[in-house]
Amino acid sequence: MSLRDRLDALHPEMTAWRRDFHAHPELGFEEHRTSAKVAELLESWGIEVHRGLGGTGVVGVIRGRKAATGGNRAIGLRADMDALPMTEATGLPHASQTANRMHACGHDGHTAMLLGAAKVLAETRDFAGTVNLIFQPAEEGLAGAKAMMDDGLFEKFPCDAIYGIHNEPHLELGKAWVHDGTALAAIDYFSVVIRGKSSHGAQPHRGIDTVAASAAVVAALNALPSRRIDALESAIVSIGQIHGGTSDIVIPETVELRGSVRTLKTSVRDQVEPLFREAATNAAQAYGATAEIEYRRAYPPTINTPEETERAHQGAAAVLGEAGVVRNPPPILAGEDFAFMLEKVPGAYILFGTKEEGRPVISVHNPLYDFNDKLLPIGASYLASMVERELG
Ligand SMILES: [Zn+2]
Ligand SMILES: [Zn+2]
Repeated sequence: MSLRDRLDALHPEMTAWRRDFHAHPELGFEEHRTSAKVAELLESWGIEVHRGLGGTGVVGVIRGRKAATGGNRAIGLRADMDALPMTEATGLPHASQTANRMHACGHDGHTAMLLGAAKVLAETRDFAGTVNLIFQPAEEGLAGAKAMMDDGLFEKFPCDAIYGIHNEPHLELGKAWVHDGTALAAIDYFSVVIRGKSSHGAQPHRGIDTVAASAAVVAALNALPSRRIDALESAIVSIGQIHGGTSDIVIPETVELRGSVRTLKTSVRDQVEPLFREAATNAAQAYGATAEIEYRRAYPPTINTPEETERAHQGAAAVLGEAGVVRNPPPILAGEDFAFMLEKVPGAYILFGTKEEGRPVISVHNPLYDFNDKLLPIGASYLASMVERELG
């Protein structure tokens, strides 16, 4: 039986795992039930299991039965397990059973696909070398990948290459996006507290107007990408929150702005932070106010390495056919903590489409989102085939 046939046969089982995870979503670093189930399944297939890496992370190790020629290579396959703090509105039978917890990014599907690949690989072990199955916690903003690395992931389980995947609701089922170089953006977060002097609304001259200053700061920050950064580069400053004031007739002492900065290159990322500080400080100062800036570097850009990208392309083409691979589409300005792993180990992160006729296109992070189970055998076949490709 071919890999794909085996994984097609596993489709009902993968679907059951996926829907079970979906009904029981857990937030980053709280994936206790999910990681326990992952570990139990891996163990039931005779796979060596290591629990508790980076909190709730799990690593399964499968050693091939073929003799290695030219050194014992190892590769890593990674899935994320965490859900989001949102309330599901799908009304599906397998919908989340917990309010304010939802698998709205398809990490339930990613986990089920890596489990499917693991089961087939453990049965055949038809390769030379080692496969490290990396089930990571907390991809959504909490850098679970980095937590596993800080816990010695690549020292304990060295990898010569690493592969990760994500579902993409806006791309057709049967297609994959394979980026050369940068696939996803760097994301940094900020808070700017504009501090002035509170006053009566009738006497703004006796205070320092933080609301007017914050409007100037917003304008200065929005102008930063287009006026201070080369127009051929990508940078976005998005303000998602403004908080200030409690009364119609009082000018508040402080106003806080919060948001995110996205860039595609480390050089541009490094350029933005000092410009951001300068723009916010000076715009506030024009009103006599000060700006207290917290600028937190979160995720680096996700950058695929050339050789592994080529192999990922071949792996995807083996499952989808050459026509299914969309090579080097524009990068996506979302972020991924798989980026940390790619800073350490060569590899590739590719996206698989789930869009179908008759199925509404719903983005990830939407309360109506549900992972398309038809991707399960496709993604699992890709992951398993990368082992044959790398360690065959
Ligand atoms: Zn997400
Ligand atoms: Zn995601």
